[in-house]
Amino acid sequence: MIKETAASLFLALFFFFSSSAQNSDQQKLIAALLGHTQIQDDLYELCDKIGGRVTGTDANIKSVEWGLQKFKEAGVDARKEGFQMPAMWDEKSCTAKITGAANFSPKVVSNAFSIGTTAAGLEAELISVGHGTEEDFKKAGTTIKDKFIFIATDELVVLDGLFKEYSDAHDIEGRALAAGVKGVVYMSSRPKKLLFRHLASRGYKNTLPLVVMARDDASRCLRILDKGEKLTINLNIELTTGGSYTSYNVIGEIKGSENPDEIIVVGAHLDSWGMGTGANDNGCNVTMVIDIARQIKLLGIQPKRTIRFALWNGEEQCICGSWAYTQQHEKELDKHVVTAAIDIGSGKITGFFTGHRPELEAETNKALQEVSALGPFENMDVSIVGTDNYDFMMQGVPNLVGLQEEANYCSDYHCESDTYDKVNLQNVKINSAITAVTLLHFANLDKVTLKRQNRNEVQKMIEETQLEPQMKAFEYWQGWLDGTRGRK
Ligand SMILES: [Zn+2]
Repeated sequence: MIKETAASLFLALFFFFSSSAQNSDQQKLIAALLGHTQIQDDLYELCDKIGGRVTGTDANIKSVEWGLQKFKEAGVDARKEGFQMPAMWDEKSCTAKITGAANFSPKVVSNAFSIGTTAAGLEAELISVGHGTEEDFKKAGTTIKDKFIFIATDELVVLDGLFKEYSDAHDIEGRALAAGVKGVVYMSSRPKKLLFRHLASRGYKNTLPLVVMARDDASRCLRILDKGEKLTINLNIELTTGGSYTSYNVIGEIKGSENPDEIIVVGAHLDSWGMGTGANDNGCNVTMVIDIARQIKLLGIQPKRTIRFALWNGEEQCICGSWAYTQQHEKELDKHVVTAAIDIGSGKITGFFTGHRPELEAETNKALQEVSALGPFENMDVSIVGTDNYDFMMQGVPNLVGLQEEANYCSDYHCESDTYDKVNLQNVKINSAITAVTLLHFANLDKVTLKRQNRNEVQKMIEETQLEPQMKAFEYWQGWLDGTRGRK
């Protein structure tokens, strides 16, 4: 029923735009993007055929060549831009055995950058530390030294809960390290045996075995531990690890006809964690970025300024691809008018996060008026940490993040269930029209009044938006302080 309503709305919008009296580039582009395009086939190829794309793996390299080929087939100039990833990490297998008061094999998966174990596994008593608060750790005292600690979690329902998960994990892993535990076992925050992969909060610097246990199995452990009975866990984690290696962003480009040195960037990350096939995170938006470039080219639209279409890599590990771009293109950053990152799945775009920049919010509002039939829209003038706008923001470049309805983003986030069938393709097409028109607005402005912020202005933004805790939770704070990440 809901689907039918969506389909008829979609058709109505399509005819509205295709029969529109205005025949501007914007209107043509909207009609083309809402009409039949290759986007569905692209998503199938990227997700079902190539599959999960952990940076550093063969599948990821395949996806880079695929993205390059897609731009070239569309007649869009494109290149690979290499950069160094700090270290290789991928899971080969992860299993567990519970013994003691009960004997069973719970379903587990390692967090990214968990350390591995020997073939015999790593074994110790499993001790419950509640939700891992400061008080919980205090209560546990020295009893958890050299033991596996078990952390109960709340079920993840909304996007706000996701940031809490990240920031809680940062605190928990800090306390766990200080207490000298053997490793950390998290209860999965998703129901029905669903597992997901989180990044170790210390990223590459992590020194602990960290796993997530299926919620149903974890609840069983917890009931037994709560009765005061004892459990031992044997964890067996086999990894592919290695040192620094080269990864690639794919950058498509349509040169501006009047101000080619002024640049608009729109990007989505090509890489994914390998559990599902990286469909809502973020294959759908990769195919969206490609389709926008393709339709602009097909229609022969010539933007006044240059538009770059970025398929970022290494986002999940460290947002390393877009970070590398800001370093490699540092001399051009003054000329970057605006950048946009789309990374919240296939929920409909309802506006943009405009990064605590009222002048950017005002201009984005004007852009969205040109596509008002796909609204309503409301921007949020807040700063975002955690996706590919980050290094542009820290470099003072005006940056947007697509503000999307949450839809099913949370329930499949980084899960084995993030597959093609979870993508709402109608929304992705509508989002492509919204994003394309917004970009074109900035590309064709008569005069650019948006400015790149200097370090003091970025610092002021951090203070006014209280961004420090988020930057600390992602381990980015030090880089900003010492000038290795962000504007000098
Ligand atoms: Zn993502």
